[in-house]
Amino acid sequence: MASQDELRPRRRPTVSVDVGGVLVGSAHPVVVQSMTNTDTADADATAIQVARLAHAGSQLVRITVNTDEAAAAVPEMMRKLRDNLGVDVPVIGDFHYNGHKLLVDYPETAALLAKYRINPGNVGAKRHDEHFATIVRVAVDNDKPVRIGVNWGSLDQAILTELMDENAALPEPRDSRDVMIEAMLQSALRSAELAEQTGMRHDRIIISAKVSGVRDLVDVYRILSARCDYPLHLGLTEAGMGDKGIIASTAGLAILLNEGIGDTIRVSLTPEPGAPREREVEVAQQVLQSMGLRSFLPQVSACPGCGRTTSTFFQEMAQQIQQYLKDRMPEWKASHPGAEELRVAVMGCVVNGPGESKHADIGISLPGTFEEPVAPVFIDGKLDRTLRGEGLVAEFIEILEDYVARRYPGVPALV
Ligand code: SF4
Repeated sequence: MASQDELRPRRRPTVSVDVGGVLVGSAHPVVVQSMTNTDTADADATAIQVARLAHAGSQLVRITVNTDEAAAAVPEMMRKLRDNLGVDVPVIGDFHYNGHKLLVDYPETAALLAKYRINPGNVGAKRHDEHFATIVRVAVDNDKPVRIGVNWGSLDQAILTELMDENAALPEPRDSRDVMIEAMLQSALRSAELAEQTGMRHDRIIISAKVSGVRDLVDVYRILSARCDYPLHLGLTEAGMGDKGIIASTAGLAILLNEGIGDTIRVSLTPEPGAPREREVEVAQQVLQSMGLRSFLPQVSACPGCGRTTSTFFQEMAQQIQQYLKDRMPEWKASHPGAEELRVAVMGCVVNGPGESKHADIGISLPGTFEEPVAPVFIDGKLDRTLRGEGLVAEFIEILEDYVARRYPGVPALV
């Protein structure tokens, strides 16, 4: 019978790129990253948001560097981040149009950023190669990696026109979508070639080619992964708001990750007004954990409920337990490493409750309507005890704490 290990997606072979101490590519775990939406010229707001994203689990955080004011504010922002907030997450600069100028004019900023993102479609049409090479030279001089990040919405028009003209001359022209995809791929790969000709090491380049449709994303990355061994930054661009953004991102990422494609991911959600930016980090983590690729938080399985459970008690309990685990995880991470792999079940009635609870590390099967008001608790697949009455949630939490302490004891203190 196939083992879990045999069934796990095999990562496609890539080189490994060091981004400020975070290794991207090769067999390294898929890296979660995110991006701020503050005005980078506001050093306080940006440092706080970078810190929040890092605390949520973003291993790399990208900031916009779009103006002189933004570029000038980066050293101050980094000082606040490192010294005041104690956060050492690598910070990446996102450059469009004027990156060649800002990186030269603000050498301290160039030195502090861990990586530069270059969009080949936005480095200037007339002096494209010259501007691109300037950014690459600054990166080489500062020993920084780059991401060559092509985007459907800002595709290099020179390459697109060239390929469209070639296509139009064919006896049987290809679909314009195929030509667009080819233009994206060529923009990324020709730029990588130009970067290497300019002196950039092969293992200092990450590539992305983002689109906003799931099918397009899958096609683009499948071809890209077959044509190069650069680590790939994966994500749907402009994924959208709420459920739509989460579902579309998950659908695209899951297909590719399951094929071993993708070395770092970002979920580009449009936040609801006032909603925390960290949501995109949580979703990215959940995608990886749901696929069994990484573990970040103990997982709670809960049934959807049905006519057999007329009270909302079990839904509330599942929610409380999920929140409790989330709140405890930062401390458990240090004191009980491995607790992020814990699986908990909170089930609504006797139909699937005991079965699902037995599959989890700890499970509770609550009484459905007309069932005896008792809740059996299963630990490691065996009935451990039965809870009843008020205080059931608190008792279950005590059992959880006890289990985590026993199962994930951490490193014993030296005496
Ligand atoms: S476990 Fe019970 S309450 Fe939950 S969905 Fe199944 S039948 Fe309904």
